[in-house]
Amino acid sequence: MNSDCDPPQVYGSRGDGLRLSHQPSTINHQPSTINQIQMPKIIAIVEDEPALRENYSAALRAQGYHTQMFATRKEALDGFRKRLPDLILLDIGLTGDADGGFEVCREVRMLSVTVPVIFLSARDTDLDIISGLRLGADDYLTKDISLPHLTARISALFRRLEALKTPSVQENIIERGLLSIDVNRYAVRWRGRTVDLTLTEFWMVHALALHPGHVKNREQLMRDAQIVVDDATITSHVKRMRGKFVAVDPQFTGIDTVYGMGYRWLDHTAE
Ligand code: CA
Repeated sequence: MNSDCDPPQVYGSRGDGLRLSHQPSTINHQPSTINQIQMPKIIAIVEDEPALRENYSAALRAQGYHTQMFATRKEALDGFRKRLPDLILLDIGLTGDADGGFEVCREVRMLSVTVPVIFLSARDTDLDIISGLRLGADDYLTKDISLPHLTARISALFRRLEALKTPSVQENIIERGLLSIDVNRYAVRWRGRTVDLTLTEFWMVHALALHPGHVKNREQLMRDAQIVVDDATITSHVKRMRGKFVAVDPQFTGIDTVYGMGYRWLDHTAE
C-alpha cells in the first residue's frame, strides 16, 4: 500500500469490489514526460501513382511520421506555399508533366533553401541525377530502393539535422578565415555575405571547413553529409557548392580538389 507521502492517487483502493491497485498501468494516468511531447515530422510525398503513394505513406506512418500526399505539381506547390513540410519526397515524372518533379524542386528552393528534398524516381540516368542535385535536392534515390532502406535514409537525414541543432555537439559558430558557419541556423557566410546552401551542401562545407587543409575523401564526405551516392554525384555537389561561393566572390578558391584523393578546405586568412 502507498504511504501518506506518496503523490496523490486519483484512483482509490477502498477495499470494495473495485480494487484496481495491482493493475495501475491499465488506468490511463501515467504522467507523460515533457520530452515525449515532440511534434511528429511531416513528410510530403509527391507521386502520381496512387498505389506507390499509399505504399510510401504507409511505410512512413509506421515509423511515426505524418504524411501529406500530392499527385500533381500544382497540388504540391499550392500545399507547400501554405505550409512547408519537414521533408519532401519527390517523383520526377508526374502525369502529363514529364519533368514536373524538377519544377517542383526549383520552386521549393525559392520558398526554402533548407527543407530537405529527396528525389525518388524510376529514372536512374546520370543526367537525371545530376539535374536533380543541381536543382538543390539533398538526395536522389531510385524506386528500386526497399521501403526499409528508404525510411532508414530519411531517419538518417533527420538525425543529422537534430545533431546539428544540439549545441553540445560542436561549436555553434565556426569561423575559418573568411568563412563563418552558424550551425544553428544552417547559415554560411563568406566575406560576410550569405551563401545559400542546401542541407547536404551545408554539411559538406561544414565537414571540410572544420579542419582546413585536411583532405576528405568521398566516403568521408558522404558519411559527414549522411548521403550515400556515387562519385559522380559527390563531384556534382561539390561543383554546385563552389558555384554558389563563386557567385558571391568570383575570387573564391576555398574548396580544393586533390586529384584522386578528395577535397579539402583552404583557409584564406592570409588574404
Ligand atoms: Ca511518376
